[in-house]
Formats: sequence, structure tokens, C-alpha cells
Amino acid sequence: MSSYAYDYSDLNTAALELTADHEELKTNLRRFAMENLRPASIELDKMKPEDVIKEGSLFWQNMRKMHELGYHTLFVPEAYGGIGLDPVSIHIFMEELAYASVGFAVAAGVDCFPSFMANLTVSDHPELEHSIIRPFVNDVECRNTACWAITEPAHGSDILMAGTPYFHNPNISHQVVGKKVGKDYIINGQKSAWVSCGPTASKAALFFGVDPNQGMAGGVIAIVDLMQKGVSRGKPLDKIGQRELPQGEIYFDDAVVPEDYVLCDAEAYEEMSSLILGVANAGMATYALGGARAAFEETLTYSRERIQGGRPLCDHQAVQYKLANMFIGVEAARQMSRSVMNFNLTCFPPRTEYSIASKVFCTKTAFDVVNDGVQIHGGYGLSKEYFIEKLFRDIRACMIEDGSNDSLTIAIANHILFGDTPY
Ligand SMILES: Cc1cc2nc3c(=O)[nH]c(=O)nc-3n(C[C@H](O)[C@H](O)[C@H](O)COP(=O)(O)OP(=O)(O)OC[C@H]3O[C@@H](n4cnc5c(N)ncnc54)[C@H](O)[C@@H]3O)c2cc1C
Repeated sequence: MSSYAYDYSDLNTAALELTADHEELKTNLRRFAMENLRPASIELDKMKPEDVIKEGSLFWQNMRKMHELGYHTLFVPEAYGGIGLDPVSIHIFMEELAYASVGFAVAAGVDCFPSFMANLTVSDHPELEHSIIRPFVNDVECRNTACWAITEPAHGSDILMAGTPYFHNPNISHQVVGKKVGKDYIINGQKSAWVSCGPTASKAALFFGVDPNQGMAGGVIAIVDLMQKGVSRGKPLDKIGQRELPQGEIYFDDAVVPEDYVLCDAEAYEEMSSLILGVANAGMATYALGGARAAFEETLTYSRERIQGGRPLCDHQAVQYKLANMFIGVEAARQMSRSVMNFNLTCFPPRTEYSIASKVFCTKTAFDVVNDGVQIHGGYGLSKEYFIEKLFRDIRACMIEDGSNDSLTIAIANHILFGDTPY
């Protein structure tokens, strides 16, 4: 397996200039991620899902390292104790982590979600600073990790279609429901096996239904304690890609969400769902970019080493053509994902359709890049001995993760035709 000798990540500074601080951050993150996350992800990929999540496993060791470094506070401003990164730095963070391991990058991303969401609403709910944000920020021992529990067994795309007519169809409503009892919500139902870090998290940003008459729009978002009586987990999912990222069901049986942990009520639910999807999709686009860059660099190295026809593969024009297309894909994905992240993390309200467009474009482009990479590796591209094989599986998942590209594209059409997209 080759090392990361070729650094094409420096060629992208035309649209958004990187400062000396950005460069330093990139160097430090790359070193950390390549020394820790990449080798751990390769080992975890070979393991059974039950072993990935065992106490003291490489998964836990690396999550702990990220908490020690404060990476779990990615979206938390310095005023609340977070690392307080600007949008371009957040983009660099996500690309570098995903370059080393797409699965660990996603695990780090969902770990930040509850404190990110609490941060969005803390001005209206100041109690969240002490109930959610501070305890999470202070958790350098990694006792308090988190997940984003949205997908349900019967509702994948349905739950992500905020802003479309589907979202208001009263025949389609949440499987996880909350009933107001006094000031608390009592939660019952099941989230699907696709919840990233569902088997390991101690808190979830939970989306649940409160008013089925409004269809999927009749929901509430809250932070729920997953260590309480009334919460249980399914067996961790065995899947083809991102195997270093644990996945599994969460069951609620009269679990309690206190009033202080509610982030938004049914009135704000649709807008908040759209906003959160916008941030998640901007992130997924960037994770796909990181994976694509890794695929390109692996392939470039391989094409210089493998001899066929008496010459290195890269001396053949047909291979050069493919390499150039891979390069174009990586650079285009970086420009789009970085601009969209910068735009959507600095404007309010963010334009979710741009994040979705970035997610759909970058994940599809990354898949084309890694597919060309496998082709250039020939038969070895299908062998577990070569890292490109893992990347192929990891990147394929991105076209479904955080929304299937097809459903998301329909959501963009809805924004263009019936929303206020400026066209
Ligand atoms: C690696 C990975 C990580 C994930 N992490 C999380 C997580 O952290 N938390 C979480 O809650 N979920 C997570 N998910 C779940 C993910 O968000 C869903 O898989 C996704 O939204 C698609 O839902 P689904 O799989 O149920 O597919 P379905 O919704 O059943 O869709 C199946 C197919 O039908 C199409 N389709 C669906 N509805 C329509 C429609 N109305 N019109 C036309 N076509 C339609 C879709 O585009 C898709 O091609 C993850 C998924 C993956 C793969």
C-alpha cells in the first residue's frame, strides 16, 4: 500500500485563499489523521461489527484521541469552550479526516451534532449551555459521545424531505413518537439500523413525531440521554463500506426527554430539519472529497509503479486521460464543497439546496474517481491488499448516506420550481 506522497490539496486556493493558520491546521490534521485514523480504519475494516465497538477497541482509542484534542467541539464557538473554527477551517478539518478514513470523519461529524444543534438554539434556550454544550465540550475522556438519530425503519427519504409536499402528507408520519406528560416528552418507537454511532453514543440528537396530522412536518428535535432506562440498542450492522463507523438501531420504551433538552418544537421543526440537512449535506460532500483525493493519490502512485507494455501504466495515454479526469473531479469537488460550506456556514438562513447540490455532485464525482481508480489498478483494485478496494466501498456509501442522491435531487427540483431559489 502506498503512502500519501502526492499533495494535490494545495492546488485549490484560487477561490478561497488559505491563510497561514489554515495551512498549519491542515498540516497538523493530516499528520494526526494519517498516523492514527488511517491505520486504525484499515484494521477495523477487517473486524466484526461487534468487535469494532468493544471497550478499548481501536474505534474507542481514536474517538478518545479526538476528544483529547478537542475535535469533538468542531462546531462550538470559543465562547462556549469549543475550538471555534471558521468555515474554511471546518472544511479543511472534514477533508483531512475523510482523506485518512471516511468512516472516522463521519463518526467525528455526528459526535459534534448535539452540541452543534444546541449551539444553534442556545440564544433562545440559554439553559442548553450548561445542560448540553459545556458537559460535552469538557469531555476529554470520551465518556459522552453522540449520534444523529433521524432515519426510521419505514422512513429513510421521507424524513429528509423538508420543504416538499411529501413532508406534509398525513399518511406518512414518524415511528418514533413523543407524548407530552407535564413538562417532559415520553418517547416510544425505533430508529433504524443506519444511525451512525447508534451502538456507541451516549446522547442522540433525536427527531421524533408529536403530531401525525401534519405528516413528517409534525416533529420535535431534542437531545436524548441514551444511557437511561427505556433505551436499548440493536446488534451493530454488518455493511460493505465505512466499517470503522458503527451503525445500529436504537429502541425507545418510555424514555424521557426533559423540557430543557428540547431544541425546537413542531412550529420550527421543518425549518430546522432543512437547516440541519444543509449542514449535514455540506459535510458529506466534503467527506466524499477527502475519499476521492485519497483514491486519486493511491492511483497516481500505483500507475507510476505498475509496469505493463514495458512501461509504467502512467506512460500510456489512455491511463493519463483517466488520471486527468480523476484530478478534474477532485478539484471540482473541492471548489464546490468549500464554497458551499463557506457560504452556508456564514449566511442565515442557509440555502440548503446548495448544500444538497454539493452533496449530490461531490459524492457522484467521488464515486467516478474511485471507480476509475479501481479500473487503473486492474485486478488488484478488487483485492483487499490494496487500499483502493476499501475506498471503493467507503465512497459508494456516500451516495446514500445523509439522503439518497436521487431523493435529494428531487428536493432540489422542489426548491428551484416552487421555492425561492434565485433563478
Ligand atoms: C453509511 C450510512 C450512514 C448513515 N448515517 C445515518 C445517521 O447517522 N443517522 C441517521 O438517522 N441515518 C443515517 N443513514 C441513513 C440514510 O440517511 C438513509 O439511508 C437515506 O436517507 C435513504 O433512506 P433509505 O435507505 O431508507 O432508502 P429509501 O428512502 O427507502 O429509498 C430507496 C430508494 O428509493 C428512492 N426514493 C425514496 N423515496 C422516493 C420518492 N418519494 N420519490 C422517488 N424516489 C424515492 C430513493 O432515492 C432510493 O434510491 C445512513 C446511511 C448510510 C448508508
